[in-house]
Amino acid sequence: MSERSGIDRREFLKRGAIAGVGIGLAPLGAGAAAEPPGVRRRVRLGRTELRIPDIGFGSSRLDGDEDLVRHALERGVTYFDTAESYTDGRSESTLGRALKGVRDRVTLASKVEAGADDGREKLMQALEGSLRRLQTDHIDVYFNHAVNDVARLENPEWPEFASRAREQGKIRFTGVSGHGGRLGKCLEVAIDRDLADVLLVAHNFGQDPAFYERFTAAFDFVAIQPDLPRLMAKAKEKDIGVIAMKTLRGARLNDMRPYEKDGATFAQAALRWTLSSAHVDALVISMTSAELVDEVLGASGSGAPTREDLALLARYEQRNGSVQCRYGCSGCAGACPDGVPIAEVLRTQMYARDYEDLAFARREYARLDRSASPCVACAHRSCAGACPHGLGIADLTGSAHALLAG
Ligand code: SF4
Ligand code: SF4
Repeated sequence: MSERSGIDRREFLKRGAIAGVGIGLAPLGAGAAAEPPGVRRRVRLGRTELRIPDIGFGSSRLDGDEDLVRHALERGVTYFDTAESYTDGRSESTLGRALKGVRDRVTLASKVEAGADDGREKLMQALEGSLRRLQTDHIDVYFNHAVNDVARLENPEWPEFASRAREQGKIRFTGVSGHGGRLGKCLEVAIDRDLADVLLVAHNFGQDPAFYERFTAAFDFVAIQPDLPRLMAKAKEKDIGVIAMKTLRGARLNDMRPYEKDGATFAQAALRWTLSSAHVDALVISMTSAELVDEVLGASGSGAPTREDLALLARYEQRNGSVQCRYGCSGCAGACPDGVPIAEVLRTQMYARDYEDLAFARREYARLDRSASPCVACAHRSCAGACPHGLGIADLTGSAHALLAG
């Protein structure tokens, strides 16, 4: 990550450690301030009875860095979340190598995008590929990945496959993950039909109606997924584990460096917001450097966000609200007569502009069913005004295509 604040990043984190790695944390006790950050809370993941750290290792961009995995493990991170599609399987392979010999100490979650028509044999082959790459005989939680279509949940082959995989000891629990515009509907179906022991859902301050309630006088925003708190509460009633992802609301971390004080960072504030939700057991976050691991673990075990945290979140929203597409929003669905999947295009663009990972963004863009090429010379611009959050869609999708195509 680049620095914009003029403070060297290592120095910044050192200062943070000296200051207690953030405000609003659980008391460390005298002399503990110099301790390296680590996991400070473990949680029960619903009816799975798995005990996992409140902050887990997201590996969507992991590609060969075994030392990073070991660094997180040394800090107490024992929940590792991957998927067969992450870095074309190399994320799983990296985890497999790095966690060799410590499999019994960690919880592994992986995912497959099970299509509406996929048969049980195909799903079993996908699972066996993941097991091979992860160098293990079982996966603790196996997710149906990025579900945004009820038909994918209604595929009768999935429960058949899952039941057989459980009997064979290849998976212990199943889950559903999602962050698309129809997430709410999909979650409702998954909960009502008992299709998941664990839900993995995009959830951050920018989607939470409770966040905006505090600022309605100052912000003209509409909360995304207003139904999500209700659905998460419903999941908890059935003792389904709930893990949050996409917790940084776009992760423009460097934008916020000039406003962070005393080692308390925007990332920690955002994580505290998510972890303070009564309906969230834990979260996973993409860990891309040892410094980021240490920074985000500063939020482990902490209490509710402080006043300073809320000010950072509000500033972030002010800076980025008019240019950042919202996860789980479908306000512009159907606005393009040429069929450009606007939300998906802007999601992939986010990986380049917000996460500063152009290669990953290009890979994700190439995976889309349709590109934004029609936007480059679009004369009608029918999408104008379609975004209730005021995003200039045509300019954003056009520049996304220029950046990510080819
Ligand atoms: S462009 Fe606007 S309406 Fe479309 S998904 Fe993004 S935030 Fe929602
Ligand atoms: S600019 Fe044109 S082609 Fe692109 S999303 Fe908007 S309406 Fe569709």
